[in-house]
Amino acid sequence: MVCVIGASTASAMSHGAGPRVYWTASGLFGPFNIQGLIPTYPDARDILIPINMWIIDHPKGLVVYDTGNNVAISDGACTSHWIAGLCDFLQPSQARGDVIDKQLEKVGFTVDDVKIVITSHSHLDHIGNIEMFPDAIHVIQKKELYQAWWPEKFQRGGAHVVADYDDARDFTYFELNGDYDLFGDGSVVVISTPGHTLGHQSVKVRMAETGTVILAQDAVWVKENLEGHPAGLNYSILDYTNSVNRIKMIRDIENAQVWMGHSMEQYEVMGEKWYQ
Ligand SMILES: [Zn+2]
Repeated sequence: MVCVIGASTASAMSHGAGPRVYWTASGLFGPFNIQGLIPTYPDARDILIPINMWIIDHPKGLVVYDTGNNVAISDGACTSHWIAGLCDFLQPSQARGDVIDKQLEKVGFTVDDVKIVITSHSHLDHIGNIEMFPDAIHVIQKKELYQAWWPEKFQRGGAHVVADYDDARDFTYFELNGDYDLFGDGSVVVISTPGHTLGHQSVKVRMAETGTVILAQDAVWVKENLEGHPAGLNYSILDYTNSVNRIKMIRDIENAQVWMGHSMEQYEVMGEKWYQ
């Protein structure tokens, strides 16, 4: 009943011509030393990070951008779904209510309402629940599918969890090779931002009141990455640096905001809210 009320409320407050965006998270990781993520950062301190996900409600369809950690993590099965060392290091706080299906319900939708799932990349905190969306169109870079199924040896170590997507092989994939204007109106544009992984992608959203935002995901984890300290986990540091610079250029040219993948400072202020 609550969901039914939520659904009608959601449609009643629906947007005009453009998209609106809800910012949520699949729980937190940490605390751990920031230098474990960013080796060149000079000041040791413990941080918590949110596992950001965004729900984009466009007049032509509902979009989810990243699906967080697998539901097993909040069902007490971390050490069997992930390698045990990652459960110890990342310390996921995800509760069942933090998982994308429940987050959709909180704002009046169900997984069946989702037309498109955009996946930034195939790491466990971003692709974790794509199997909840068997009927959606899955937008991902073609290269990232290769990355998911056969990561480079130096990128193995637990970040790619094949059990997150092994039952999703026959889903409908819109395989991209670069940028793509999702609805053909310039309001939701997938932008290629490789480096963190082989085929990482971000999303640029143009809203009537909030303006233009770049949902960077792991192209930019935290503000320290914008200040010249590259992330410590990269497929290619050259591609990563080019992607950070690309995002900065778009930010400066379009007067856009950068909504980062794992910034607690941003999430505490801006999370669990609608933007339009
Ligand atoms: Zn991540």
